[in-house]
Amino acid sequence: MLDVRSIAKRFGSIVALDGVDLRVARGQMVGFLGPNGAGKTTTMRAILGLLALDGGAITWDGAPIGAAVRSRIGYMPAERGMYPSMKAREHVVYVAELAGLTARAASAAADRWLARVGLADRGDSKVQDLSSGNQQRVQLALALVHDPELLVLDEPFSGLDPVAVDVLEEVLLERVEAGAALLFSSHQLDLVEDLTRDVVIVDHGRVVLSGNVDDLRAGSRVRYVDATFTATPDAAWQPVGEVIERTDRHIRLRTDASADGRTLLDQLADAAPLASFSFSPPELSEVFRNVVGGATASAGARTGSTG
Ligand code: ATP
Repeated sequence: MLDVRSIAKRFGSIVALDGVDLRVARGQMVGFLGPNGAGKTTTMRAILGLLALDGGAITWDGAPIGAAVRSRIGYMPAERGMYPSMKAREHVVYVAELAGLTARAASAAADRWLARVGLADRGDSKVQDLSSGNQQRVQLALALVHDPELLVLDEPFSGLDPVAVDVLEEVLLERVEAGAALLFSSHQLDLVEDLTRDVVIVDHGRVVLSGNVDDLRAGSRVRYVDATFTATPDAAWQPVGEVIERTDRHIRLRTDASADGRTLLDQLADAAPLASFSFSPPELSEVFRNVVGGATASAGARTGSTG
């Protein structure tokens, strides 16, 4: 398992990481969330050994991550580092060989992964001549070509079209099912919610919430009621609860988590015949907004009087 313990990193007066803790087991997928500047990329770079930490420790299966383990990590950096004038297939083969595959195995793996990401016919194109989404697909092939046991992917979904998103989801689920540990960052919370049950949310270099998505949602003190009617309720009818949206035949209410769903259902059914009814906790995106205080840009925690 990947074990990140109390890691700290400062860049001058900016505290990028202020004691981040997280764990990813083999066969587990963890969504790494947080506003811009929260410390996700810095954490991922630290896992890869790309920056010196000021404190804390990172281990894989209980031992520090050395060169041997690093060659078994699939890393997709946020800055998408590739050699632009290399041809796509050549690039994948090159990276596979660097990871220790024989020339023959690297060649076969490159063909397999380029096909998998939908680029079988673009292997001879220079990376720089590919569209940005297709460059991203090549980057994915680079991260996956050596069947890594630990995957660290920094915003792998950004810039992909919906078909490529589906392919990536499928590939990641497959790798995790095969026993890989996966940590990926994303700002697309609906997608995260679809794909994984476990998330870690960071803000200002600290973990502010982590756990199972369903538990985190259920832990909210808010519930939403959505009801659609087959006829318009009487104009004089007043629902119980805070009305968030209302049209002729649809109503959305916000209530306390302690409200009784059955009672709400009965009240709504009295107003007009119901076509649908739901009583549910907030989406992950609302849980996220609540915990990061609605911030969209986190500048990192500043230290002392220099901040
Ligand atoms: P985003 O969602 O925007 O990608 P992030 O969560 O990945 O953000 P990081 O890139 O880890 O955030 O940045 C965390 C903080 O550390 C930010 O305040 C950032 O400006 C700062 N930082 C990161 N790298 C450096 C660096 N090399 N020099 C100075 N400051 C840095």
